[in-house]
Amino acid sequence: MNSLLELLSRLPAERDELELPDKKPTYSAAEAKAEADRCLYCADAPCIKACPTEIDIPTFIKKIATGNVRGSAKTIFEQNLLGYSCARVCPVEVLCVGACVYNAWHREPIAIGRLQRYATEKATAHGETPLLARSSGASRAPDGADEASSQAGGARKKVALVGAGPASLACAGYLALEGHDAVIFEKRALPGGLNTTGIAPYKLHAQDALHEIAWVEALGVAIQTGVEVGKDVRGEDLLRDYDAVYLGVGLGEDTKLRIPGEDGPGIYGATAWIEAMKLARAQGTSPKNARVLVIGGGNTAIDVARECALLGAAEVTMVYRRDTASMSGYAHEMEGARKEGVRLVTHATPVAFERDASGALTGLRVSLKSDTQGAPGEQVLACDMVAVAIGQSKMHAIAAEFPGVTVDGRGCIVADPATGATGNPKVFSGGDCINGGKEVVNAVADGRNTARHLERTWAGPRDARKTWPT
Ligand SMILES: Cc1cc2nc3c(=O)[nH]c(=O)nc-3n(C[C@H](O)[C@H](O)[C@H](O)COP(=O)(O)OP(=O)(O)OC[C@H]3O[C@@H](n4cnc5c(N)ncnc54)[C@H](O)[C@@H]3O)c2cc1C
Ligand code: SF4
Repeated sequence: MNSLLELLSRLPAERDELELPDKKPTYSAAEAKAEADRCLYCADAPCIKACPTEIDIPTFIKKIATGNVRGSAKTIFEQNLLGYSCARVCPVEVLCVGACVYNAWHREPIAIGRLQRYATEKATAHGETPLLARSSGASRAPDGADEASSQAGGARKKVALVGAGPASLACAGYLALEGHDAVIFEKRALPGGLNTTGIAPYKLHAQDALHEIAWVEALGVAIQTGVEVGKDVRGEDLLRDYDAVYLGVGLGEDTKLRIPGEDGPGIYGATAWIEAMKLARAQGTSPKNARVLVIGGGNTAIDVARECALLGAAEVTMVYRRDTASMSGYAHEMEGARKEGVRLVTHATPVAFERDASGALTGLRVSLKSDTQGAPGEQVLACDMVAVAIGQSKMHAIAAEFPGVTVDGRGCIVADPATGATGNPKVFSGGDCINGGKEVVNAVADGRNTARHLERTWAGPRDARKTWPT
């Protein structure tokens, strides 16, 4: 098992992301109490319904107000094992906080995310025992076979999980708590999926994602990094050696524009650029003093634009092919980007990149529609760096490893969102690879639902034990 220190030792001490400080630092005890005291503990709490993992929000807030911080974290983790990172990365403005009754009265809604961060951060501070270890001993050393089999009602199962992102981590953690063997295979050197490699640093730094992973591992989950399923391990091996397989593989490489001049220096896929910025010191990818264009209108495009502005770009312009209303990025995130000085050009379709005689990037030729800021026709936007944020490829190859697993027209693995069941009775799936790319909280909900479904299936009707709330 990897300790937190071992995981952190794989992270370079010098990383660009560390230049971007936490935007919403943790509450002090006094601030948390004051904010918790404002909650009305609504009987039909709309905030709960707005949370994809349906955390009992008024209960966890009440526990903070009464000084029971560990109990508060337990309430959160029972529904959302990754409540620590979700507290920091969830778009609460459109989820729980957006549903808080205070909004209807034009008063400041309860800062649910910051309270959740306070409770989970305090309760999982270094040295704390995993909170969900039950007194009968579900949390165990990986070789604690006897204890585990009693937890699993004599039906201890082995599950292989592909990818160490939020979907698999949640699924594996809840399975381990039920006494099953959960082994995650991750192709990268660091576990965590986009929580480690993609989330904007002002929400979550990589070391904080790793802190949470060490906590999940301490529940009894094993993670093998540097192992790519389909290459280092075959699907047929997993089907033979495990009782079930969970595919939490996320999405693939950044999609390219496929226009002239794209192959060459200065142009990056958005998630590849973010990963380099989060996990290393820039080597030729620094936006400092550069004129940056970010192509796309989704949340990834907005994140890159904000990050470049915060890292000292001379100017940052987002280039989007339709109107503002059609952008898939959240309005509150775009507002944040504008405050950092990001400009937006709409109705602009990239036509070709322009380079000088030495091959250096000099501009992007775009085709502008008539109802844009400028005159219709073609125009060249000067730039030194471009990030292309127009989506990521889907994971057909991994589906092909498992007979019966199919992919839909969008390239997503076909799975029942309630259980994760795919066309192969032994294979389950969840997270971005089945929904095409949503939020961390959706991936966590998927992983948890599959763990509960498997546990119910394996416990069978003779064992009516109810372990986790539904
Ligand atoms: C730039 C960016 C910013 C985002 N910001 C936010 C945010 O602020 N808030 C929010 O809630 N959501 C955000 N999201 C979305 C969120 O990160 C995802 O919804 C979530 O991480 C999906 O989790 P997952 O487990 O399905 O996949 P991932 O997090 O993508 O994890 C999949 C893992 O599987 C591994 N893998 C893939 N194939 C294999 C294989 N064959 N063998 C072994 N391992 C494999 C990958 O290396 C990866 O580690 C963001 C996404 C992006 C791209
Ligand atoms: S809706 Fe707002 S006030 Fe009501 S319980 Fe939820 S957080 Fe508290």
